[in-house]
Formats: sequence, structure tokens, C-alpha cells
Amino acid sequence: RITELDRLLKEICDKIQPEMNRKELDFSIEIPPKLPQIEVDKDAIVAALVNLLGNAVKYTPEGGNVCFTVLVEDNEIQFKVQDSGIGIAEEELPHVFEKFFRSDDGRVRGVNGSGLGLAFSHEVARLHQGRIDVSSELNQGSTFSLVLPLKIGVEA
Ligand code: ATP
Ligand code: MG
Repeated sequence: RITELDRLLKEICDKIQPEMNRKELDFSIEIPPKLPQIEVDKDAIVAALVNLLGNAVKYTPEGGNVCFTVLVEDNEIQFKVQDSGIGIAEEELPHVFEKFFRSDDGRVRGVNGSGLGLAFSHEVARLHQGRIDVSSELNQGSTFSLVLPLKIGVEA
């Protein structure tokens, strides 16, 4: 269960890069040089982050940009996915983590999805005693942050 973060991140980027290319999105990655080990269910965290990045791809028009940032703090690690996409209306924001929720936005209806990705990612965060934060502005873009506690005392 102790996971090398660099391997986890490489797996994520390998999965999502082809989708970024297909949509001609400018995908930038900001990862600190020294990464801690984390104790997580690797496949679940990879799937949760691939969901967030997959949404960034789906809901950002061609030519836009997506930034994936990893921030290591004292007792938590933050994975941030920022896009320049269609954004989410303020009144819909409280609902995005609900099962089967999809926006009323006409631009979302034209995109395949079942409204389960974020509910899954949210549950994965919860099972790791973490959380997902979202902020968004319609027509400007969205930022989703998956935050996990870093367990102190877990050594290599
Ligand atoms: P699925 O992930 O099951 O294939 P989905 O992408 O529609 O389908 P979620 O990932 O759960 O479902 O997202 C729920 C809804 O939240 C989306 O339908 C969309 O309306 C909105 N949403 C999620 N991520 C973004 C984003 N990055 N930009 C704009 N809207 C988003
Ligand atoms: Mg999704």
C-alpha cells in the first residue's frame, strides 16, 4: 500500500496525455522534484485523478489549457486539476459530486457521460480521509483539488 508517488503520477499522465493531444489541449504538469511516499490504494487514486483530468478534457473546448499541479505541504498533499473550460454555474456547484448529476448546460448534453465520475472520485477521497474541493466560474474554467492527508511517521 505504500506507493511511490512518481510512479503513480507517471501512470496518470500516460493515461491522459493521448486524450490531451487528441483535443489539442495545452497540458502542463507541475510536480515538485522531491516527492514523498504515500500510503494509498494506488489504483483507486489513479482512477480518481484520471476522472478529474478526463473531465477537464471533456469540458474544455479544443485549444484550451489544462494544468495538473502537485503540492506537498506539511501534513497533506494536494493534486490540483485546473482547466480553461466551460465552467460550472454557481447553483450547480453544490451538486456536482452527487451520483448521476449532469449539468443542464447545453454544452454538457452533447458530451457522453453518466454523471458518476465525480461521485466515485469523491468517495475515493473520503475513503482516504481526504477531500475534493471545487471552484469554478461559468465560461472561465474549473479547478478541482484532491487533498489527501500525509501520514506522519510512515517511513520508506
Ligand atoms: P462520467 O464521469 O460518469 O463519464 P460525467 O463526466 O458527466 O460522466 P461527472 O464526472 O460526475 O460526470 O461530472 C458531473 C458533472 O459535473 C458533469 O456532467 C458536468 O456537468 C460537471 N463537470 C465536471 N467536471 C467539469 C469540468 N471540469 N468543467 C465543467 N463541468 C464539469
Ligand atoms: Mg466525468
